[in-house]
Amino acid sequence: MTSKEIRQQFLDFFKSKGHLIVPSAPLVAKNDPTLMFNNSGMAQFKDFFLGNGTPPSKRIADTQKCLRVSGKHNDLEDVGFDTYHHTMFEMLGNWSFGDYFKKEALAWSWELLTEVFKLPKDRIYVSVFQGDEKDSVPFDQEAWDIWASMVGEDRIILGNKKDNFWEMGDTGPCGPCSEIHIDLRDADEVARISGKELVNADHPQVVEIWNNVFMQFERMADGSLVSLPAKHVDTGMGFERLCMAIQGKQSNYDTDVFSNTINFVAEKAGKKYGEGKWEDIALRVIADHIRAIAFAIADGQLPSNNKAGYVIRRILRRAVRYGYTYLGFREPFMHSIIPLLAEQFDGVFPELVAQQEFVERVILEEENSFLRTLETGLTRLDKIIAETEKNGRIAGEIVFELNDTFGFPSDLTALIARENGLSIDEEGYKIALQAQKDRSRKDSTKEATDWTIISDEDFDFEFVGYDETEASASLIKYRK
Ligand code: ATP
Ligand code: MG
Ligand code: MG
Ligand code: MG
Repeated sequence: MTSKEIRQQFLDFFKSKGHLIVPSAPLVAKNDPTLMFNNSGMAQFKDFFLGNGTPPSKRIADTQKCLRVSGKHNDLEDVGFDTYHHTMFEMLGNWSFGDYFKKEALAWSWELLTEVFKLPKDRIYVSVFQGDEKDSVPFDQEAWDIWASMVGEDRIILGNKKDNFWEMGDTGPCGPCSEIHIDLRDADEVARISGKELVNADHPQVVEIWNNVFMQFERMADGSLVSLPAKHVDTGMGFERLCMAIQGKQSNYDTDVFSNTINFVAEKAGKKYGEGKWEDIALRVIADHIRAIAFAIADGQLPSNNKAGYVIRRILRRAVRYGYTYLGFREPFMHSIIPLLAEQFDGVFPELVAQQEFVERVILEEENSFLRTLETGLTRLDKIIAETEKNGRIAGEIVFELNDTFGFPSDLTALIARENGLSIDEEGYKIALQAQKDRSRKDSTKEATDWTIISDEDFDFEFVGYDETEASASLIKYRK
């Protein structure tokens, strides 16, 4: 089954169960100050769950373009290194707004996976919330009973608050969730160690594919939980992971969602995918990042020097540098992937086809501008790396200089440092950045024209602040 057929079957299935099929919201979150990019299917329906507004139907399904590169969900550092986390991915989802609940939702997910997609029942594990006395949230007996009648108790795993309980915030709707995991390992491996033990253990072939969230409580300001009068269902399934399972692959990148792009880029570089560790990482990073960049631009988010635009610029520069260092690209290459993507998503996300030439042009310009300084910047950084002691840190001023003079976002410098067993002085970098900001503010306030505008345009300071905890968390993850 092709990925296009898989997506369509998902939508057709839920249509047959009375769901209204709606388009994906744009990748860039609109009218939501708490969110830069849509990072889950439910984001566009948040208001309905909060009781503001009425959904067009009590049952909705769609495929949502998601981006997880900042804030609460930041998977950027895993992309290319693992085989199942992307920056941009499609989240297939079905929702009930005060309509059906656990029984239907779980039965339908089981029916879709095992009867429509014919995934093997003995390779599927499900998780149920175990309860948390301290937080006064009960064990999800209801989900347990439903699953036990379908899959048998031995295939159910109990999960804690981190994996199996969803909350919108400190207050507001919340509830238990139930995840579906699939074991894609060889029979030998399965015989050796039970898949049940590998669920949620970062095993690349035992992966979570679907999450069913049941909003049944409301957390009050005093911390207590009350039952919601209208209960809701919110589900999210990783489309690329589902394709991996159905197409019998061991990596999302081996499915037809990515293989055309990978083959195209590999051929252009005169390489073969699967023959070298770093070349493969570079190919995966590029095949992943181009989608995030293309859809962000098609949805109106141009690369720029701050906020969401800077996130897109950083992703693009990251990909260009991987291509430069590991695939030998000295000329722009990312833009040439766009026609392939436009064709692939024709009829699914029409915004890309509609703006194909514009998207290509923006990417080409970005590539050209970064490639002008990339080589000198890398030479400068190589020299610094050679001078830095083993396991040492690159000084904040250098990170700043690389950013200011050569357009190296600090996380790109951090990434290259990491490849060489080094880290960067993030604090020092922020101080240098702030010093420049102060200098420039002083300068601009001296001009006393009507048009004295103190702008953040040229600084990435705000963005660095936005996801610094996630960024440093992933640095720590890598250093160990
Ligand atoms: P994981 O534990 O694998 O990081 P998650 O629990 O963070 O996934 P959810 O927030 O539950 O993911 O999202 C619903 C589904 O979206 C997941 O079950 C998974 O199939 C998919 N998904 C989540 N993050 C990614 C990603 N970065 N790339 C591709 N698919 C993803
Ligand atoms: Mg995650
Ligand atoms: Mg998870
Ligand atoms: Mg999950």
